Parts: sequence; C-alpha cells; structure tokens
Amino acid sequence: MTDDFDVIVVGAGMAGCSAAIRLAQRGMNTLLLERGAEAGAKNLSGGILWGHDLDAILPRWWEEMPVERRIVRKRFGVLTPERAASFVFSDPAWAKPPYVAHAVLRARTDAWLARKAEEAGATLVTSVPVDRLNWEGTRVHGVVQGGETMTAPVTILCDGANSRLSLGTPIRPASRLSGEATELGIKEVYRLPRETIEERFQLAPHEGHAEEWVAGIYPPGVMGGGFLYTNDDTISLGLILNIASMFGKGVYSHDLMEQFKLHPAIAARLDGAELVEYGAKLISSGWASRPAAWHGDGWMVCGDAAGFVFSNGLVIQGMNYAVRTGLAAADTALAAREANDPSASRLSGYAERLESTGVLADFREFEGLDRVKWNPRFYSAYPRMATSMLAGFLADPGEGGGNLVQRLRRVQREVGLSMRGMVTDGIEMARNV
Ligand SMILES: Cc1cc2nc3c(=O)[nH]c(=O)nc-3n(C[C@H](O)[C@H](O)[C@H](O)COP(=O)(O)OP(=O)(O)OC[C@H]3O[C@@H](n4cnc5c(N)ncnc54)[C@H](O)[C@@H]3O)c2cc1C
Repeated sequence: MTDDFDVIVVGAGMAGCSAAIRLAQRGMNTLLLERGAEAGAKNLSGGILWGHDLDAILPRWWEEMPVERRIVRKRFGVLTPERAASFVFSDPAWAKPPYVAHAVLRARTDAWLARKAEEAGATLVTSVPVDRLNWEGTRVHGVVQGGETMTAPVTILCDGANSRLSLGTPIRPASRLSGEATELGIKEVYRLPRETIEERFQLAPHEGHAEEWVAGIYPPGVMGGGFLYTNDDTISLGLILNIASMFGKGVYSHDLMEQFKLHPAIAARLDGAELVEYGAKLISSGWASRPAAWHGDGWMVCGDAAGFVFSNGLVIQGMNYAVRTGLAAADTALAAREANDPSASRLSGYAERLESTGVLADFREFEGLDRVKWNPRFYSAYPRMATSMLAGFLADPGEGGGNLVQRLRRVQREVGLSMRGMVTDGIEMARNV
C-alpha cells in the first residue's frame, strides 16, 4: 500500500515550517499540519530571532519576511524594587546586512514561513489539531486526526513545548513534563506610534532595541527575568518565571507582571502605550527536558517539542534551534528517501546532524548553567548588592564610604550574604558555566 505523503510535519511553527520548506524544495510530497486557524495564530514568543539558520532555505529572508526591527543594541541589567543597574552592548556590524537579530511577531513570521512552504510545494492544512501519532507497534506510520489516518514513512514532530503527541509515548514516557525544567513565559504587546518608539529608544527607522532584566523585585525566593523588545509600532514586554519558585508563596503571575511593568525603569518606556495583546505559555527548557530519544522508527522530534530551547531567566533562545533542528530532520528524511530506508537506524542520521550542527554541544554546555541558574540569591541578594555598591560609588564620593573591600563587606551584610556563600556561588559558577 502506498503512503499518502512522503513526510508529515506536525506543527507550523519555526521548526515545522523550516522542515517543510526544505522538504518541499527538494521535491518531497510534504503535508504540514497546524492546529491554529493560521500558522502563528497560536504562537507566543518574546521575539528576538537569531535567524541565520534560515539562510540555508531562504537566502536574504530578512528582505521579504515581515520582521519588525533589526536589533542594534542590547541592554542587560538587574532590577531591585527601587533601583536599576544595566550595561549596554552595541556593535555597528549588527546594523548591517546580513544582520544578527530581528525583533519579530510570530503571527506574522510564521504565517509568512508557512506560505513559503506552500510556494515550495508543501500541502499546508490549518485548523487541524492532530490527535495522536499512528503507532504500529514501535513504528510511527503517520498521524490520526478526527478518526482519519494519514500515512507517511516519516513523521516529524514540531508541535512545540508540552508536546501532547509525544507525552505518554516511547518519545516521552512520562505523562507530564518535569516541573523542574518548566518555566512560564508571559508576554504583552503595547502599541505606540513608530516615531515615539524611535525617539524614546534613540533608534533610526527599522532599528530595534532589546532589554533583558534579572527581576530582583519579587518576594524572597521568587525567581524570574523580564524582557522588552521594540517592534515596528509596538513593544513586546514579558517575563520568564521559574514556576517551582512561585509555589506556596501566594504570588500570581499577573501580579508579578504588574510589578515589572510598574518598575520606574520599565514604566517610563510604556508611557502612553496601549495594551493590544497578551498571552502565557509554558517553556520546557534545557537538557533536563529532552525526550527519551530524538528519533525512532518513522519519527523525529524537533524544536521545543524536543526541549531545544535555552532560557536562563535573562535570555531565551529557541527559534534558532527550532529552525536548525527542523532542517536537520528534513535532511535526515531526504537521506532516508535516497537510501529507501526510513527505519530507525536510518533516521539516526538525525542525532548525527544534531551533533554536527552544534545543537547537542550547546545543550550539553547549557546543562551546567541549568544547574546553577535558578539560585535565589541571583534574583535578590546579588542585584541588591550590585545596585547598592553602585549607589555608594556614584552618589557619595568622598563621604567616607571606605575602600572597595570595606564597602563590599558593609553591603554584603546589608543584603544578608555571607562571604562563604559568595565564594561557594563563585566556585559553582566557575565549575558549571
Ligand atoms: C514568552 C516567550 C518568549 C520567548 N522569547 C524568545 C526569543 O526572544 N527568542 C527565541 O529565539 N525564542 C524565544 N522563545 C522560545 C521560542 O518561542 C520557541 O523556542 C520556538 O517558538 C519553538 O519553535 P517550535 O516550532 O519548536 O514550536 P512552536 O513555535 O511552539 O510551534 C509549534 C506549533 O505546533 C502547533 N501544534 C501544537 N500541537 C499541535 C497538534 N496537536 N496538531 C497540529 N499542530 C499543533 C502549534 O499551534 C504551533 O503552531 C520564547 C518563548 C516564550 C514563551
């Protein structure tokens, strides 16, 4: 019996669209299934796309893709309830083609990418929430939706974080994601006139600004980071929260967002802006959230569904890994067709490609950071220490504040940090990062 398609791709996000474009460009009969009414309709992303992986399928994509602004400057910093301290990185090369990073809104970019997949020859069907993979023993032979089975020798799973299709199957035997590796992303979009954004952030037309903050503004133990990105005529504002750190503390994510928005360093940026969109989504990040396997007989898993998103409460990167892993899966399916063998051993080329493209090396490296990143002191005592030290140096020169060591000791006592704790944190960081 012949199959309905050469490859079925589930999910038209960054991973699924990239895979479908590559497959269709190379003549594979590809079905791309998306549960949203349109690709991107169900996506939420803070929105900095480090997009070079797209060059392989869409050269000079940034000229046509509906991107918002080219990022020319990044600000990193810490907030305490009253203060803010930050530094700015800028590089003139970022403002020139091929550009390093773009602010994007996923409803626009994903719809555009899905159209590119269609133009390349893929069949895109939206409003189709796939119910389950079609397991025949240990083999996946397509998908089941609404009682109908669609078959293909290879199915690529790109259904995002909390992948319903893999939970409770050999891909992810557990029925739930590990709480430890799960964060909550919240995002709001505010409309502001284009000219106001450019004046407020000192940007030329099409230039963009990104900010990421350690949010040391919450009750002790509650950990999270905030971001602010400029779009064309909107601002994306959001939080990445460590869910486990919120348990039992009587805090709610919307209140934490409110506190972030009201911080003087943030509120001034939003003056006169109108809220036009908001959403929340789970983020399953890092090595700990990897599936039992990345491939098997007739299937591969990519992007967020495979845990290929990196977040550290300050920075979040997942779209770049979604594109890269989607392309690696597509190339593996193409190689399998050439060899006429979609069996598990052939699809093991996917793991080899994850190695050769540096994805696995990155995530092994992030594992160390994952171990130390959710240290409550990084979200409270250290931001207070950094801002107090700066306040001392900047505000009372010559008033008997003492030398660096004396000041450090005093501030350290004020914020409740022991020298031993600081040395231990330093050693842990040096060991793991
Ligand atoms: C608040 C927030 C901020 C972020 N900021 C950034 C950032 O600045 N930079 C960055 O690189 N990354 C960021 N990320 C991470 C990034 O959004 C993800 O890593 C990326 O979207 C992963 O792409 P994906 O294609 O794997 O999954 P997704 O983009 O989630 O796409 C999955 C698709 O599958 C569809 N789907 C799901 N289930 C089914 C089903 N059963 N049947 C059919 N279709 C289905 C969904 O509707 C969706 O379209 C952020 C994430 C969040 C939550």
